Amino acid sequence: MPANILVVEDEPAIQELLALNITQAGHTPLRAISAEHAQELLRNTIPDLILLDWMLPGMSGIDFARKLKSDSTTKQIPIIMLTARGDEFDKVRGLEVGADDYVTKPFSPRELNARIKAVLRRRAPQMTDDPIEIQGLHLDPVTHRVTGNNTTIELGPTEFRLLHYFMSNPERVHSRGQLLDKVWGDRVFVEDRTVDVHIRRLRNALSNSNHQDLIQTVRGAGYRLSALAN
Ligand code: CA
Repeated sequence: MPANILVVEDEPAIQELLALNITQAGHTPLRAISAEHAQELLRNTIPDLILLDWMLPGMSGIDFARKLKSDSTTKQIPIIMLTARGDEFDKVRGLEVGADDYVTKPFSPRELNARIKAVLRRRAPQMTDDPIEIQGLHLDPVTHRVTGNNTTIELGPTEFRLLHYFMSNPERVHSRGQLLDKVWGDRVFVEDRTVDVHIRRLRNALSNSNHQDLIQTVRGAGYRLSALAN
């Protein structure tokens, strides 16, 4: 599942390079040239990750990071700080305000992508391309293939995303609202009942390899994927 990554960087050449790297890694870049510009974009969209330059005109990267982490709508977004050699970058201060990691410019694309992947794996595992296997059920995000005990399971796009999300976050109970947020995307208006329809389809498809009981209904709370008996 591609991640939306917001790049906040005032130098056009570096911004261009970052956007290119993000695209090549299979994700979608959003761009802002200042903290103020980024704040405008954040009114309409919540990205999965922010690459935030330390030295920005106007509000500095560190002040913006602090602001993002103190706001309930943005505090969950992971942040990677970008710093230049020679900047008075203080790693401890960066991590104190809630940044997840930092990358020093000039960076290699490979290093940047590794950092992005590590942060997403930790904070939003369904955004990475790692194959997952639970109890003989295997999902490969790169090829979009799902097999259960070597039987191919055909899934629609929503059921695929739903299963990917469940398998990335096993054993946890997810409310219908949380599933709508994570699988359908934010600010989409869909009724809670829609989730039940897609869960039913997912279970039907999984019954081909007898994995339907992995998706459990938790009365009054939502759904979970569990390898343990309900
Ligand atoms: Ca800068």
